[in-house]
Amino acid sequence: MRQIAESPLHVSFELRGLTVVALLDGYLDLPPSRLLVPDGLAVEPPLVDGLLRLSVNAFLVDDGVRRVLVDTGASTSWEPTMGLLLESLAAAGVDRGAITDVAITHAHWDHLNGLVAPDGADSFPALERVFIGSGDEGRLSEHLARFRDRAVIVSEPLPVTPWMTALPAKGHTPGHTVYEARSDAGTLLIWGDTIHVPSVQFAHPEVAWELDHDQDLARAARLALLDRLATPGHFVAGAHLDWPGIGRVVPDGTGYALVTGEN
Ligand SMILES: [Zn+2]
Repeated sequence: MRQIAESPLHVSFELRGLTVVALLDGYLDLPPSRLLVPDGLAVEPPLVDGLLRLSVNAFLVDDGVRRVLVDTGASTSWEPTMGLLLESLAAAGVDRGAITDVAITHAHWDHLNGLVAPDGADSFPALERVFIGSGDEGRLSEHLARFRDRAVIVSEPLPVTPWMTALPAKGHTPGHTVYEARSDAGTLLIWGDTIHVPSVQFAHPEVAWELDHDQDLARAARLALLDRLATPGHFVAGAHLDWPGIGRVVPDGTGYALVTGEN
């Protein structure tokens, strides 16, 4: 993937025929006790004031005609360190009024609540479809209930566009879903919250995350996706990978490593 543009809020890449834009929503600080480390394993993730700092990223994939936004950030629903998505889209030169398809990886606030702008209006006034995994659609309630009639429930592999497929990857939540975009140059897997702490979980994918709904299922999904990605022609984009959250997975010892900053 070739980087073609950047600002503090976005980084655009070219994947032959597709433009992939990483969009910064902000960051979230959480206690390191959220990492569930097996006995006998010592890990030392970098901390900021004693806390893990997770980047919060969303991604737009565009073929020049259709564009799909994967995840929406937190808007004003959570910590004030998040909620930059609409500014990031503007920085990338993307008209949010032209976004018709949003693909949600799962129904946690930092992924879903950006459907509603800070002023309470729809973030994407032309929105036609919201893809969301079966089991997570119940979170389209209260201020998000207005999107229920546009929900496309993903319970099996489902085409989003001719070049993007939604794939269930249950574990982090009952409806956790990943999105695979394909071009002649390779495949990009936008994998939501498969990994929360890249400095630990690439090398040690067995390390679980306390907020995983089903830690065994989440661990199995993480291992299966890492195995699939660690082959030529595959790229990964992650909601909590260090900004801009895009790279390649390579085998490394008994685990994996994320390679960034190259084609
Ligand atoms: Zn998340």
